[in-house]
Amino acid sequence: TGHQKLSGNSYLMNPFPHLNKNQIGTENATMVMLVRNSELEGALQSMRSLEDRFNRHYKYPYVFLNEVPFSDEFKERTSLMASGETYYELIPEKDWLPPPHIDEDKLNQNIEKSQDIIYGWSKSYRNMCHFNSGFFYKQKILDNYDYYFRIEPDVEYMCDFQYDPFTFLRENNKDYGFVIAIHEYENTIPTLWETVKNFTKDYPDLIHPNNSLDFITTKEVDINYGFNISDNDSEYNLCHFWSNFEIGNLNFFRSDAYNTYFNYLDQAGGFFYERWGDAPVHSIGLNLLMDKNRIHHFEDIGYYHVPYLACPTSIDVKTSKRCFCKTRGLDHDVLTTPIDAEPFSCLARWWRYGSGKKF
Ligand code: GDP
Ligand code: MN
Repeated sequence: TGHQKLSGNSYLMNPFPHLNKNQIGTENATMVMLVRNSELEGALQSMRSLEDRFNRHYKYPYVFLNEVPFSDEFKERTSLMASGETYYELIPEKDWLPPPHIDEDKLNQNIEKSQDIIYGWSKSYRNMCHFNSGFFYKQKILDNYDYYFRIEPDVEYMCDFQYDPFTFLRENNKDYGFVIAIHEYENTIPTLWETVKNFTKDYPDLIHPNNSLDFITTKEVDINYGFNISDNDSEYNLCHFWSNFEIGNLNFFRSDAYNTYFNYLDQAGGFFYERWGDAPVHSIGLNLLMDKNRIHHFEDIGYYHVPYLACPTSIDVKTSKRCFCKTRGLDHDVLTTPIDAEPFSCLARWWRYGSGKKF
């Protein structure tokens, strides 16, 4: 149940019955944060930034998800940081732990030999990626919403939003919005693409006729930047949308197409016998199954998640949206080069092969 604020503006009329009484934004939408109790300060930082830049004008709710109960301190402090309602949900074990067909010994063996792979040593990271790939949208509380905005602890939004991104998606017939597109570490997904190819052979009818496969397979704009990628047009070029930022329509993930795709990957075992990330899994799903014109690059939303910063390039946008294109207050090297100017960005490819600017 909702964590009621002490200081609600009860004088506001509410013409939208699906909204809580203090909510101003009119979309059926919520923020979603999967987070640990130990990440409270980081969660507060992200919320503070999102509230200042966007949500204080709309008061959309927040859904917090965790596989262990949230502490009273976590609930109290995040509910006081939020302008909207806050909900705290316990993830059922079956949605978090490896599914029954996963062989525990085989998983442990892979963990042992993956010490040099980013997060390869961590079992909980695999649970997290598996959850984000196939279970976040199945959490009961999200049945109440159409749109979600994924947020993570320790991120920062660099510009004022100045509009409601949920409304933007709905009015422009978009179902998914991203900010950063980069290359995945190849050693985390040795058999992912092979599995995806088998899926496309078994379920050709699920592949959208206006898909964005070219974004994740063609090579011609890559002048070997040091990525060990194949020259073959039918192989994966490792590009994906960075999923720690997502604004999207939950109904895509609830679709038969996406769930058939997810279950196929889940059966193959790579979430546990390798270290498949939810970013390439979401992304490949979107690129195969969604009309590419329903995918949107939010070029005007500045965003920072270690170690990458994305900021609008236009000086007009930067000034009018009060962007601050430098990270601060974090205890690591500051990276001020815009990610999209870096060779490991996949944005130029999206512009060329996705729904972006055509050139
Ligand atoms: P990175 O962004 O790939 O470096 O991974 P993060 O550590 O940021 O994890 C991604 C998201 O999952 C963040 O929102 C974390 O708070 C969350 N997360 C990661 N591991 C766990 C976990 O074991 N339990 C819970 N509840 N959340 C987790
Ligand atoms: Mn993160």
